[in-house]
Amino acid sequence: MCDASTKDLGRCLCVITGASKGFGRSLAQQAACVLQTGSVMLLVARTARLLQELKAELNTDVLVVHCVEADLGTAGGVNKTLEVAKKENVNDFDHVLLINNAGSLGAMSQFSSFTDQAEVNAYYSFNISSALALTGGVLQAFPQRPGLRRTVINLSSVFAHKPLPLSVLYCTAKAARDMMFKVLAEEEPDVKVLNYSPGPMDTEMQKEIFQQTGVSRELLPCQKSVAKLLKLLLDNDFCSGTRLDFFDL
Ligand code: NDP
Repeated sequence: MCDASTKDLGRCLCVITGASKGFGRSLAQQAACVLQTGSVMLLVARTARLLQELKAELNTDVLVVHCVEADLGTAGGVNKTLEVAKKENVNDFDHVLLINNAGSLGAMSQFSSFTDQAEVNAYYSFNISSALALTGGVLQAFPQRPGLRRTVINLSSVFAHKPLPLSVLYCTAKAARDMMFKVLAEEEPDVKVLNYSPGPMDTEMQKEIFQQTGVSRELLPCQKSVAKLLKLLLDNDFCSGTRLDFFDL
């Protein structure tokens, strides 16, 4: 499954949210090939069965893999993920890598239809608040120390900056997350932060867009977009806080 690579991501604690499907799943498969022996991967999502299937595909001679069944739309889900991470010894790693990938499309509907504040809050709780709380918790649990590389990736979208009709929830969440991680980059110069816009990929999210709008687009296999993100991580010469798009690379 792994191609020979001259570079690696070190002895890494790698946390991937939304690892059960789509981009997150493909990322876990490819990232596992560029982690040093002794690395630990946390696979986070709601669907335990899919996480276990993924774990079975990964090379556990090299990696320890923990499946974390958690709903990140709840404080309990974020705390459970942090509890699993905190069981690791910070001194066992030279790299802490957090990929804030989990996300949802939400209802695609007219702006003026969103009159139920509880529904809106539930969407933002998962798509915005959980990324902040999880990232803050991971950075607290694994503070800066000499020799420790810390990297935080946010899965962004072209719709963080381009308004899309019928997508006020999604566009607003993606815009907020981009700014959230730009602030992190300003505050913590030792943390490498990237807003990565992965391009339109063939995933369940795109199937949902098609079901809701009837509009189909040319889609990329996730592997292609993952490969570009991994190259960015391996080269590690992007500017912290920047936003990079699949099509610009
Ligand atoms: P998918 O819908 O295919 O997968 C989403 C992942 O998030 C799944 O693993 C899902 O697992 C997990 N997830 C959903 N809800 C929750 C929750 N409440 N708690 C924990 N995990 C949850 O998405 P994609 O792979 O398509 O997208 C990944 C990221 O890339 C998203 O942030 C998306 O916005 C972004 N993106 C995607 C594009 C595309 O074309 N697909 C384009 C641009 C950006 P489970 O259901 O098991 O919980």
